[in-house]
Parts: sequence; C-alpha cells; structure tokens
Amino acid sequence: MTEETTNSPAGEVKAPVNFIHQMIDEDIRNNKNGGRVHTRFPPEPNGYLHIGHAKSICLNFGTATKYNGKANLRFDDTNPTKEDTEYVDSIMEDVRWLGFDWDDRLFYASDYFEQLYEWAVKMIREGNAYVDDLNAEQISEYRGTVTRPGKESPFRSRSVEENLDLFTRMKNGEFADGTKVLRAKLDMAHPNMLMRDPIMYRIIHTDHHRTGDKWCIYPMYDYAHGQSDYLEGITHSICTLEFEIHRPLYEWYLQQVAEGEYRPQQIEFARLNLTYTVMSKRKLLQLVNEGIVNGWDDPRMPTICGLRRRGFTAEAIRNFADIIGIAKRDQVIDVALLEFCIREDLNKRSNRAMAVMNPVKLILDNYPEGEEEILEAINNPEDPDAGMRSIPFSRELYIEREDFMEDPPNKFFRLKPGGEVRLKYGYVIRCESIVKDENGQITEIHCIYEADTKRGMPNSNKKVKGTLHWVSAKHALPLEVRLYDRLFVKENPDDLEEGQNFKDFLNPDSLKTITAFAEPSLGAAKPGDRYQFERLGYFCADLDSVSGKPVFNRTVPLKDNWAKIGQAEK
Ligand code: ATP
Ligand code: MG
Repeated sequence: MTEETTNSPAGEVKAPVNFIHQMIDEDIRNNKNGGRVHTRFPPEPNGYLHIGHAKSICLNFGTATKYNGKANLRFDDTNPTKEDTEYVDSIMEDVRWLGFDWDDRLFYASDYFEQLYEWAVKMIREGNAYVDDLNAEQISEYRGTVTRPGKESPFRSRSVEENLDLFTRMKNGEFADGTKVLRAKLDMAHPNMLMRDPIMYRIIHTDHHRTGDKWCIYPMYDYAHGQSDYLEGITHSICTLEFEIHRPLYEWYLQQVAEGEYRPQQIEFARLNLTYTVMSKRKLLQLVNEGIVNGWDDPRMPTICGLRRRGFTAEAIRNFADIIGIAKRDQVIDVALLEFCIREDLNKRSNRAMAVMNPVKLILDNYPEGEEEILEAINNPEDPDAGMRSIPFSRELYIEREDFMEDPPNKFFRLKPGGEVRLKYGYVIRCESIVKDENGQITEIHCIYEADTKRGMPNSNKKVKGTLHWVSAKHALPLEVRLYDRLFVKENPDDLEEGQNFKDFLNPDSLKTITAFAEPSLGAAKPGDRYQFERLGYFCADLDSVSGKPVFNRTVPLKDNWAKIGQAEK
C-alpha cells in the first residue's frame, strides 16, 4: 500500500520492495559490514505481544530470511519493576506460533549487564560519564526545554576518582533508589533534549526475573540497546518511529565503545495502529487488571494470544503484515483489512458446518413422523480433499428466525408464506402456514417438502431463489457460542478530548453469549478446530470446550457488518 512496486525487465510484478529493504540492498552493494544482514526482535517482557509486535516480528524475521541472514530474539529486560517470566514465556510462544525461529539465538539484555557496567566505567575514566546526586525533579528542571538550554548539574565536575568510587558504591547497593544516577557527559545545551546528559544508570533495589538481587543498578534503554545490538553483531536495528530522535544518542554511545569498522544501524518505521483498537501495553494491561476483558488472551484483545484464541491463523496475520507494508509515516490501518485477511484464509481451510443461532421451529407436514434420513454435505467447496460428511434430517427442523418473514419486502428471497426455498444439501420446501403464541411471536412454521428435489433425484435442479441452513431439531447439539465484536465503538479510542478516557468508548456489545443449535458432527470439535458456520461466519472451538460440549468463538462474521451499517446510514 505504502510501497513502491518494482517491475522486472520481463514485465512481471515482483513482491513490493519496502524502503528498509532498499537500504539493505544498498548496504550489500557497498559491502557494509561484510554484506551481512542480521536483525533482532527486542521485546520488553512487560506484557503480551500484540498485532503491532507481529508486524515488527514479520519484518525482522522476514528480512533475515529474505537476505539469508539471521534474526535474534532479545528480551530487553532492563527494568525489573515491570518485567516477569510469565511475559518471557508468552512472547516465545507467540513468536513461534507466528512461524518464526530464532534457532540458538535467544538473548537477554541482562546477559550483558557485566559488559555494560565495564563500558560505563570506561566512559567514566575517559571523562564521558558522571554520578549525579540531583533528584528526578531537579534533573528534569535542569534539563531545560526545547526553546531554553539546560543547566549543568553542580555534580557534573566531579573528578574521575570520585565518580568511580560513587559508581562502585551505587553498584554495591550503598545508596537508596533515586538518590544517584550515572549520566553521560554530553551537552546540556544540545538542541536535541535527549543529548542533554542522558541518564545511563539508575538505582533500583528490586529483584530481577533473571539476575535476582545481583544488581541494584540498571541501565537505561538508550544506553543498553545499541550496545546489545553491537554485542550481537546486529547490522540493521529496526525500531519504531518514536526512536528516530534517539538515533544520535544510539550512535554516540556506540562511538564510546565500538572498535573496528562494524556498526549496527538503527532504522525506523511507522508503528501499526488499527482502528477500533488500543495497542499500548499500558492500556491493555489496564483492561486485563480491571477485569474489563477476561485476561490477555481474551478473544477481543489485539494480542497475538487473543487473536489465536479467537481463531486467527498465523498465515492470515503474516499476510496482513505483508499487505500493509512498511511505512515511514504513522499509519492507521482499518481493522476491516485484518478481518478480510482472516476471512480469505479461513475460507480456504475451514470445513463448513450448519448451526442455527436464533432458532424457530420448522415442521414438514408431509414428512413421515418418526422417520429420519442422512443427507450428504460437502465439507469445503474450496478444498476438494476435504471430503463429505453426513447430516441427519427429520420432520422437525430449526432455521434462523430472521430467515422467515411473514410480510416481507420485495427482494426478500428467504422463506415467506407461500414461498419456496431450498434447505441446504436437502429438499425444496414451501411454506403453508404459521403458528404464533399469545404475544404474536411465531412458534412454528409449517411447510411441505418436495421429495424429488434432493440430490440424485429427478427434480434436484429445481431453481429457487433462496437456500437456508438448518438443523434437525431432535438431533441438534446445543452449543455455547460467544459472539465477539470490536472492543471499541470509537474509530480511534486514543484520540480523546479533555476529560475523556479510552474506556468511555468500550463497545457494550463486544461479547454476547448465546446457545445455538448445531449439527451433531460438531460434538467432536476440539479446542482450536475451525469451521465456517454456513451463512454466518467463521468460528473456532474455544479452550473452554469439553468433550461433547464444545464452546465456540466467533472469529469473524462472513461479511463485514460494520461496513454494511456504514452504508445503510449514508
Ligand atoms: P509500549 O507499548 O510499552 O510502548 P512497545 O510496544 O514499544 O512498548 P516493546 O516490547 O519495546 O514494546 O516492543 C518490541 C518491538 O516491537 C519494538 O521494536 C517496537 O518498536 C515494536 N513495536 C511495538 N509496537 C509496535 C507497533 N504498534 N507496530 C510495529 N512495531 C511495534
Ligand atoms: Mg518499547
């Protein structure tokens, strides 16, 4: 979408080339870093991965594959107060599920704490770092503003010896949290505020999920990230746009420690935003903690585990990442595009089944009472190998209440008084009469069926305008179905006016649980099995299913209902 497409001399269209790959092509032409391509995906283990991370994973691992290079998984675990092994485990599971492999290249920034410490000592020795006693508030005050240069800290001129002593004692745990920091000695008047003596280390007396209580000083992201890239031999350090302004600092830190020719190069791309979705980990954590959703893997969450539980496939997500491409400017992608990708994929791979969500009874008056038969149904018209299945048929059926109208408009091709439709895989029927209760609600629809209109019979080709799905009432399997919809009603829940909160725009109808009636074959569904319920949408058996009693999540309706609503309003 946001990329250019290159044409080969023969004229056929090749895969679009994004600007990052163009840069890499150029680097390879110039034999930069010996022509190597080595990327990394660097999550902070402080939450579950979401669809935005999936885009970054596809880009980093996909780039390595394209250039015969390597991609590392590196946990950026420099803040013990927010991190947890639960997140580490879930992140590994999600990257693998998406179809990527880091082989033996699993790393943690915490693996480098010793080396980072030594480099910090080297910077102190060379007069490029100092221990500052100002508190957080003072540091921010001294930093100045975009229009006003900062002021130097009174502690900036400490001697190397004093700095070395204090930094060692910081490391040894002699000082309380927040009482001292190590800062790079750069330029308090630098036009880029991030270059005004950035903090390199802070004191945090909190156990780390990997290093325990070994450390009580922790490196800041900016200091740790580039050096970690350097230690791993990363060539292209791909990150999101908000880090563009950090790039000079990334390069300055590298300059302090790097030897030889090799340098990692930071490259920024636009983060993915989706309509009707929040993506910040802080907000997602809030939804989980406040019980607004049922955990990180709630099928309404944009997390990878949520999408997986909802029935999304890794292929659909990878394809989505490909289609949206890589942009240099912030982009908001219509969530309908993600839904389109999953429909495309599920259409090819999921078997069909019949289930009725909102049942009304239909009785075939001329079908012998007590009799039943088996009808043969095609599992997947898109997949010749998917085979056939048997569906029981009898005198009393359920159809969708919406598929009958007593007084329909002109173009209503479903069932109406005196009208004819075909029952999917079965007979043509005609509506003869209806029965209502005392409230006027229809309780029974009486029809007659034409025995010679089913498959293999002489009149099987009889043309009628509508085909309805159905289930045999006495064979029907009651099914708990969770109808999920978008979590927010506002297109951009992050775009708030004063006094508004993103939670003000939650969709009250994002989950409706109903009991549907399904063909008995669905009793065999195992968690993760996916189906297209004919005429309704794609559904996936949930983890909560027990044998013989499946619970189904609606992955996505067959059509984009939101688009329809939009059009109806126009
Ligand atoms: P937060 O939401 O707390 O700001 P984060 O989403 O940046 O954090 P990280 O764990 O640091 O979380 O992200 C790991 C990688 O994924 C980073 O390289 C980051 O740039 C990338 N990433 C995060 N969000 C998106 C997004 N929406 N689109 C594309 N890439 C993303
Ligand atoms: Mg981040």
